[in-house]
Amino acid sequence: MGALSDDERQPLGGAKSAQGCKSPSLFRVILIESVIYLLWACLEIVNLILKILELMYQPFHACAGLLQKNDPPKHVVIVGASFGGLTAQRELSGRRDVKVTLIDFKSYFEYTPGALRCFVKPSFLSELTCKLPSSRNKLLIGAMTGATEKAVVVQDAEGVEQQVKFDYLVLAVGSTYADPIKPTQSEQTLAERQFTWTSAAAKLERANTVIIVGAGPVGVELAGEILTVYPTKRVTFVDMATTILPGFDEAAATYSRAWLELRGVELMGGEPIERIGVDTVLLKSGIELTADVVYKCVGVMPNTDMLKESPFAQKFGFRNSIEVNDYLQVEGHSRVYCVGDMMSHKSRELKLGHTAEVNAHLAAHNILNSVAGKPLLKYPNGVTGADSTPKIWCLSLGRYDACLGFNGLVLSGWWVAVMKWMLEWTKVAAAGERPIGILFWKVADGMSNWLGRTLLRMPKKGPDTMSTEEAVLADRKNTFPHLMLDILKNPVWADLGMLAMRVITALLIIHHGLDKLENPDTFSNKIIAVYFPFLPGSPYFWTYLSAGFEVVGSFCITVGIFARPAAALLAGTMVNAIAFHLMKFGRQSFPFNPEKGGAYTYEPSLAFLGVSAYILLAGPGKFALRPNGF
Ligand SMILES: Cc1cc2nc3c(=O)[nH]c(=O)nc-3n(C[C@H](O)[C@H](O)[C@H](O)COP(=O)(O)OP(=O)(O)OC[C@H]3O[C@@H](n4cnc5c(N)ncnc54)[C@H](O)[C@@H]3O)c2cc1C
Repeated sequence: MGALSDDERQPLGGAKSAQGCKSPSLFRVILIESVIYLLWACLEIVNLILKILELMYQPFHACAGLLQKNDPPKHVVIVGASFGGLTAQRELSGRRDVKVTLIDFKSYFEYTPGALRCFVKPSFLSELTCKLPSSRNKLLIGAMTGATEKAVVVQDAEGVEQQVKFDYLVLAVGSTYADPIKPTQSEQTLAERQFTWTSAAAKLERANTVIIVGAGPVGVELAGEILTVYPTKRVTFVDMATTILPGFDEAAATYSRAWLELRGVELMGGEPIERIGVDTVLLKSGIELTADVVYKCVGVMPNTDMLKESPFAQKFGFRNSIEVNDYLQVEGHSRVYCVGDMMSHKSRELKLGHTAEVNAHLAAHNILNSVAGKPLLKYPNGVTGADSTPKIWCLSLGRYDACLGFNGLVLSGWWVAVMKWMLEWTKVAAAGERPIGILFWKVADGMSNWLGRTLLRMPKKGPDTMSTEEAVLADRKNTFPHLMLDILKNPVWADLGMLAMRVITALLIIHHGLDKLENPDTFSNKIIAVYFPFLPGSPYFWTYLSAGFEVVGSFCITVGIFARPAAALLAGTMVNAIAFHLMKFGRQSFPFNPEKGGAYTYEPSLAFLGVSAYILLAGPGKFALRPNGF
């Protein structure tokens, strides 16, 4: 079997689509590049200001340190300087109670989620990388080749081995992926890594046809990069699944499918794969597909081979990841923590850069707590304040389009592409310990944890826990005519709407109560006494009662305390107000235009009755002191 024939190719959308080659419009390119340039300038200026403040603060910090008496610092060894390892390094370095040694086989940090762009623009590597930090910690360049209870074995580029003893160990050696997507031990320096990317980019440039094995997020991002720069190349996915992004948030899958379809991408789906070669893919059925270049975008594997002979191997679990307990320690080794792609925790979270960082925050806190003799925190509640870590991802479709997900809420478009650039830039800045990066991510992490436990909670039964059929059905019931409107699926908008309605209504009702309190004679003698003579007791009693309902009731529905009873009493007051207007002015041609034009005199009371009845029945929503309405 030779190259893919037209009959073997399946368009993504089912029906045969036209081969498209749609480049981003010039307007979009100029807009995005200008916004990115502006943002970059602002971020650099803020970084400069923060750097100056930091330099001014340093002498005070040093003097304060001299006054403190500390026990000898504990030695924390962190192996792996990526999302997990560098987060732990930032939390733990520069302190008096611990000293940190950071170990990695390479001398630079590379932002993996952005790396695929190097296939089409190898010089982009400089924007994705920075030197590993060493100003507040010791940096050791070498590969961990083994570990014991008390030390890790590290081999340098010349093959010389040394033992590095630790009081606490953070293992963060991540996962491996198909070359050249993640750096290997032969790419210790940035120059070596640059060479790899330059060769990979040259190979792609020469190719006319491309097969991407794996139509998951990595495959889709790679197709996005290729087609943005080379819109005429022919790209085909080969996957066991019959659709792209299987199991991913449906809104993102639909958006990406439409994007790829427009550019003529095809899918050979539904057949198991036997072998993947340099320019061939052999299917189990015996069919061999060929293309000028084949990329393997499947197969994340926990990177734990070097620990096979270590005491921690007893805790090897799924795909040889290391199983950790709720404190993120390797069970039975209370001074050894494991974070990120290399470990598995019973939460079975998605393996993402963000989750690796949340892991590392907890591990770092637990090391500090352990040094200080304080109780340890449990994962993830100890960091996020909730039972789950927010599920955050960003899927780019080239430089000029992207989707972003936060606990099931999906946003897409050019401005998400700008956001992705900002996340990328600030993450590299944070890895290099630039103040702007550190500040940005302190705020962003705090915000995302807060959002994840309040406004944008993980849906109880979301795409992760539903069967595919359930997820598709649920999504169909709740689909908007335009993808951008998917944002409205989030129940938070209903709660915000309810808050707005409560506050506006209360603002309009309260003055009726205040008016009665200022002029009790008029209301008592001219309204209660005349139109409600059957009410027992003094008319003043009824005046003050309805004024009380209006003033106190308005307050209650605004802040959301006893909102349902308050709404019931306000509804009763409004019924009386409507009755008075009907008795005094009649029906006023309702429901037709009143004789004198304008509004019926009972119109505000009738509208308030409707709102009060709604609050009574629906409750005050989430943004209330007592959301249950009592
Ligand atoms: C193409 C691609 C796109 C992705 N996109 C996203 C995304 O958009 N958002 C997201 O959140 N996640 C994304 N991910 C997943 C994310 O990159 C990983 O979850 C994340 O990198 C895990 O971080 P980590 O710190 O656990 O390990 P890794 O990032 O794998 O880092 C491990 C570190 O350990 C070092 N190391 C390895 N072995 C040794 C050794 N023997 N000795 C010393 N050092 C060693 C490595 O050099 C490396 O620095 C993507 C992954 C890929 C492959």
